[in-house]
Amino acid sequence: MSSDGASIAPLSVDESATALPFFAFANTYARLPDRFFARLAPTPVAAPKLIQVNAALARELGLDADALATPQGIAVLAGNRVAEGSEPLAQAYAGSQFGYFVPLLGDGRTNLLGEVLGRDGRRYDIQLKGSGPTPFSRRGDGRAALGPVLREYIVSEAMAALGVPTTRALAAVTTGEHVVREGMLPGAILTRVAWSHLRVGTFQYFAKRGNMEDLRTLADFAMARHYPDAAHAAKPYRAFLEGVIERQAKLVAQWMLLGFIHGVMNTDNTSISGETIDYGPCAFLEAYQPNKVFSSIDQQGRYAYSNQPDAMHWNLTRLAESVLPLLVIEEGSDEAGLASAYAALATFATHFEAAREEGLRRKLGLLTSQEGDIALAEDLLQRMAANHADFTLTFRKLADAAAGVTGDENARRLFSDPTAFDTWAVAWRTRLAQEPSEPAERAAQMRHVNPAIIPRNHRVQEVIDAAVLRRDFQPFHDLLTATAAPYEDSATADRFTVPARPEECVLQTFCGT
Ligand code: AMP
Ligand code: MG
Repeated sequence: MSSDGASIAPLSVDESATALPFFAFANTYARLPDRFFARLAPTPVAAPKLIQVNAALARELGLDADALATPQGIAVLAGNRVAEGSEPLAQAYAGSQFGYFVPLLGDGRTNLLGEVLGRDGRRYDIQLKGSGPTPFSRRGDGRAALGPVLREYIVSEAMAALGVPTTRALAAVTTGEHVVREGMLPGAILTRVAWSHLRVGTFQYFAKRGNMEDLRTLADFAMARHYPDAAHAAKPYRAFLEGVIERQAKLVAQWMLLGFIHGVMNTDNTSISGETIDYGPCAFLEAYQPNKVFSSIDQQGRYAYSNQPDAMHWNLTRLAESVLPLLVIEEGSDEAGLASAYAALATFATHFEAAREEGLRRKLGLLTSQEGDIALAEDLLQRMAANHADFTLTFRKLADAAAGVTGDENARRLFSDPTAFDTWAVAWRTRLAQEPSEPAERAAQMRHVNPAIIPRNHRVQEVIDAAVLRRDFQPFHDLLTATAAPYEDSATADRFTVPARPEECVLQTFCGT
């Protein structure tokens, strides 16, 4: 961005403190042309206080959690001190928001600090979210409120524990400052970790500017980082596009199987790496209702639960459009380039359906595949919808029923008319009889895919209320602990497994930006 005249803020380095190497930073993104970002340091905050360092994630990343919890570490997590080796910057990107293209969005309130190598040999971005205004802030204040930071921390970590590709939360701090939203709210900063923060919107940004060289640079960077095999394919850009499509199709299938509603699936919130990113007004289904929307800003239901696969396909179509010039060169003509893009997009449905069907079978305890399995699953879903059955609990309790008919009561009582479950269970048992597995083993397998604990919306709200209204972070720590082991039944976690009472129900969620 510096070439566009954006100002470059001086780095705020506290010379007096000993320079502890908190991160062994590489800065490969900072080596890209300066049109890809604006270099600037986070804006210091008044009085940072640590809420939490994620010790387990720190270990995975080869970081010292204790060092991050020292005053110097907290200063880094708050943006008051630029860590050794960091070349902080805000990334440029565009995005289609609720269907409308916005050519310039960019990091309006985050700073990429640098990249670290995880113990798994992968490269991870370390980013501060809520770290102050940038040249991309437009009218925003560059800050984040405590509530949304805690929501992102909890839900992203819960998704990771559930086995869903996602950005992670390394730490959260309060800033000692207030942000103005619907009123005055305490400010906070999240340290976000991601395979990268490249988005479909990053490609749209360069495609819109029509600079082929930048587009190719971006695609090559993304390919090297996330789809290294594509580089060796006969048609690298086609292979890259298909790679993103496959990961995103599988990702959305996982969301659907867990009842997760992202809430704001704009293309700037759709990652190239295939991770769930940007936990704004996200929520989990309670009573199964396919057209469910929680987000207050999603008036038309564009990102309703059941629309998520279509929304993702739409977003990937924007990616295909953006890389089309590269496909045209690769294929040698406009027609062949376009055909290549369409052929890649056609793979979405195949990957999505395969992942969804496989997942549904496993949710029902079926390890073999037969015609009629998916109809059996759809029949259950319809009965759940008609009987307001809790999505998560119904599948969890199905394992009890799989272990033996005495377990049926746990599942059937979730239906307003329990006989709706009973008649379905007759067909299900007929099908189970053709499975090679034993009932006990089948039940155990089902408990590995049907979680007992998700971050239920009313529990997340409880966490936010306690922290914001009373500075009480105990509910945050408790929910974090419970959601870290989603597939285990534990007596202490009981309050996290039960659905909201009517008066506790969260009816709407808010972005809170
Ligand atoms: P989001 O809704 O979080 O995906 O953000 C969409 C765009 O708005 C991105 O360009 C963000 O950087 C920007 N944005 C969101 N909240 C703020 C804020 N408080 N200050 C500045 N920019 C923001
Ligand atoms: Mg976003």
